[in-house]
Amino acid sequence: PLVLGIETSCDETGVGVVRGHTLLADALASSVDEHARFGGVVPEVASRAHLEAIVPTMERALKEAGVTLADVDAIAVTAGPGLAGALLVGVAAAKGYALAAEKPIYGVNHLAAHVAVDTLEHGPLPEPAIALLVSGGHSSLLEVDDLATGVTPLGATIDDAAGEAFDKVARLLGMPFPGGPPIDRAAREGDPGAIPFPRGLTAPKDLAAHRFDFSFSGLKTAVARWVEARERLGEPVPVADVAASFQEAVCDVLVTKAVDACRDRGIETLVIGGGVAANSRLRALAEERCARRGITVRAPRPKLCTDNGAMVAALGAHLVARGVAPSRLDLPADSAMPLTIVSV
Ligand code: ATP
Ligand code: MG
Ligand code: FE
Repeated sequence: PLVLGIETSCDETGVGVVRGHTLLADALASSVDEHARFGGVVPEVASRAHLEAIVPTMERALKEAGVTLADVDAIAVTAGPGLAGALLVGVAAAKGYALAAEKPIYGVNHLAAHVAVDTLEHGPLPEPAIALLVSGGHSSLLEVDDLATGVTPLGATIDDAAGEAFDKVARLLGMPFPGGPPIDRAAREGDPGAIPFPRGLTAPKDLAAHRFDFSFSGLKTAVARWVEARERLGEPVPVADVAASFQEAVCDVLVTKAVDACRDRGIETLVIGGGVAANSRLRALAEERCARRGITVRAPRPKLCTDNGAMVAALGAHLVARGVAPSRLDLPADSAMPLTIVSV
């Protein structure tokens, strides 16, 4: 099916067009620069930017794909989770286009879309698969029995998301927002073994209750303490070593628990999605440790890991192909949509 996808859950206005598993267009407008000086996304600023960007981004995507709205089989839109006002812009726009062009509409889960986008890269996802979903607002391990109808959460962060930890540590190292890319770059020049930062929820006593859960707030605090101690002594902060050691701690825990989940469930496919899946060390470490155990790792190219419209279109195309019924035209945006609901 030819499906158009609209994404406005955070600071990226994305419109993507796919035909089955083939990516035809991925138009993106970002308000990230407007938020940078605040060190995080400002909801009102994001909503206004979506309003201004949605129509031009839509037109750009259709042009890039070489199709018209009349050609598409369905319109998919992120219905949640995300910023309420930002979601509303995309949902309202999708309803308008669906009504005008008389197309079915699918209100989809942004997090499931972060997983589904990999089908554009590697084709149909073998089911069951284990998904490691790591983004700015979420860090979860899921068992994906059927990407169209149901995912089972195995564990999640009990405090900060992995991306949030990258953003906070970048900030204390004086790097710009979002912090993932500059830490990834700085870490390449550093020693990942320089500083033994803590691996949250990996001690035997924690594993009993939190085998597949994550915790990154202690790590963030440990990095802050370490940097402060250096500064108090009047010594320079070895930024590359701090970045590399922090990144290693995050990736080590993520990959250890993801591999453990695969082994526990006897599942041989691990798919990694969400903005943090763009991290070069996470990808390399997952590849290395999974290869040894006969687990296949799938991760979309970095550009498809962070928010975009193509991921929404990819999930929409999967739902259409599986014969899932479309949403009602009065579908609500749900800023707290649970992970277990793939489409509304
Ligand atoms: P959610 O998907 O949970 O609603 P979001 O949509 O805001 O959150 P994404 O766009 O999926 O988040 O991911 C953004 C996050 O990914 C940011 O925290 C950013 O720092 C992080 N990130 C992006 N690139 C990298 C990278 N190379 N290494 C580590 N983190 C990265
Ligand atoms: Mg973003
Ligand atoms: Fe996201």
